Amino acid sequence: MLPGGCAHGHGPSTAQALSEQRAGPPYNWLSTLGDTLSHPVLLAANERAALVEIIKYPHPTLRHKSKPIKRVDAELRRLIAEMFDLMYAADGIGLAGNQVDLPLRIFVVNAQGREDEEAEERVFINPVLERPKGSDEAEEGCLSLPALYAPVKRPKSVVCTSYNIKGEQVTEELDGLLARVVQHETDHLDGVLFIDRLSETAKVEVRDALASFKSTFDGLRDRGEIPGDGQIADRLASLEEKYC
Ligand SMILES: [Zn+2]
Repeated sequence: MLPGGCAHGHGPSTAQALSEQRAGPPYNWLSTLGDTLSHPVLLAANERAALVEIIKYPHPTLRHKSKPIKRVDAELRRLIAEMFDLMYAADGIGLAGNQVDLPLRIFVVNAQGREDEEAEERVFINPVLERPKGSDEAEEGCLSLPALYAPVKRPKSVVCTSYNIKGEQVTEELDGLLARVVQHETDHLDGVLFIDRLSETAKVEVRDALASFKSTFDGLRDRGEIPGDGQIADRLASLEEKYC
């Protein structure tokens, strides 16, 4: 859902990372031609095998800085379709690659949060945010930190350049809810969570909730339900090799 993270306060490292992204090589959109999966939402539900699930804080992939992608193939389109399904099932309005254990600069948004509002479905690939303006505080939550909400201050509007699912470059000035969602999701791609952007007071208020997430995570790991850090890193590296 809405992640948080003010583009201010993130300092020069973000700006630098973003400009590196933009200087990236051109993309090879394998998906645009001769591909029956022309748009992920056109896939019938029964064609979608469960490939990914939403990971929860403090899963290490949530702290991974993802790389721009260079290709979109049928498998990635299936993953994107599944991200929409998972987002709707969890009542979210945005979901980033990192949140489904993918090290790829991609996220999906439907600011209406409703599956029947397909026209509102957006896929953002390799997003670059610039020209933040104004400041606005609003409550955010995150599908990787379920049921935790806290106020986050962010620029009110931002200019976003990204690629859509057809491989077309889109530059747009975003404001309101969409600006907030896009900033929250872009943060995810940098390994930043909305809890990193809270005021000192709010950080104290969420401390117990975070400890509880951590103990749940540790329990799952002890039972072997979540792989070790090394195994997670190897998987991310092989996905990067394939798509980045
Ligand atoms: Zn989030």
